[in-house]
Amino acid sequence: MKPAAFAYAKARSLDDAIRLLGQHDGEAKLLAGGQSLIATLNMRLSHPTLLVDINGVPGLAGISVKNGMVEIGAMTRHVALERSAEIAKHAPLIARAMPHIAHPAIRNRGTIGGSLSYADPAAELPACLVALDGEMDIVGVSGKRTVRAGDFFQGLFETALGPYEVLSAVRVPAAMPDTRVGFAELARRHGDYALVGLAAVAKANGAGLSDVRLVYFGVGETPVRAKAAEAALAKGSVDDAVKALDFEPAGDLHASPEVKKHLAGVLLRRVAKQLTGQA
Ligand SMILES: Cc1cc2nc3c(=O)[nH]c(=O)nc-3n(C[C@H](O)[C@H](O)[C@H](O)COP(=O)(O)OP(=O)(O)OC[C@H]3O[C@@H](n4cnc5c(N)ncnc54)[C@H](O)[C@@H]3O)c2cc1C
Repeated sequence: MKPAAFAYAKARSLDDAIRLLGQHDGEAKLLAGGQSLIATLNMRLSHPTLLVDINGVPGLAGISVKNGMVEIGAMTRHVALERSAEIAKHAPLIARAMPHIAHPAIRNRGTIGGSLSYADPAAELPACLVALDGEMDIVGVSGKRTVRAGDFFQGLFETALGPYEVLSAVRVPAAMPDTRVGFAELARRHGDYALVGLAAVAKANGAGLSDVRLVYFGVGETPVRAKAAEAALAKGSVDDAVKALDFEPAGDLHASPEVKKHLAGVLLRRVAKQLTGQA
């Protein structure tokens, strides 16, 4: 199918993008990498009257490390994250997740801001941001506000972003020497969205772990934290952690709720080994 007719404007600045969004009564959409948006237009799942292209907006892409935080501009492409030495060193969870996101051609165009704003419940980056307790900078007509990742994802493809707002950057705490990360997912084919996935962060505490954060994707409408399992893993028992998985995943075309729940346990055992250095 072909998309419904739409107008196109290339924003020259962030202010320009916000002004253009405001002119179309909530019917305008930002165009970042286009890897999700263009597919939804072509399938006529979305009918914006205007696409506001933010690819030429200065200052929206880039990776920097300051004040113990890694800041990533919203227009930073997946491929840049995948190849960045700074991400590998300071945000190793994101580095581990990147090769699982789609295919190289899609990673060449797709952006972190697009992925987080789209908020697909089976996507890797939203879960990573929640596991890392990251924060999002959102810019709109009344200025900038910052939202914790845990509050950003509000429902199925729904975020804290208003219709006239732009996600400009995200920040995650830079890894410390005692930071441990784990990441695993199961997909039908490499590069597909995950059936079930798990992003995890913890602190090494002697032979054990503390401050464990386990965030699943592909099991609910948003990234899902498994808090009871986090507590059990911090006490040292992987078996108890698997037993404590208390969410009830919805089934989809690819897997029943029971299969997803089983796979969540399998992933937890794999990720626990990564966190404790036994993988
Ligand atoms: C075949 C295929 C397989 C894929 N597999 C995976 C996968 O396994 N895992 C995965 O995570 N993703 C996957 N993707 C999606 C890919 O990661 C996309 O790049 C990403 O979801 C959207 O990023 P984008 O920059 O292309 O955003 P776009 O498609 O341009 O935009 C997506 C949405 O976000 C909005 N938006 C974009 N940027 C901003 C911003 N800065 N502020 C506010 N709103 C914004 C847009 O208006 C639009 O509504 C796949 C895509 C394809 C086509």
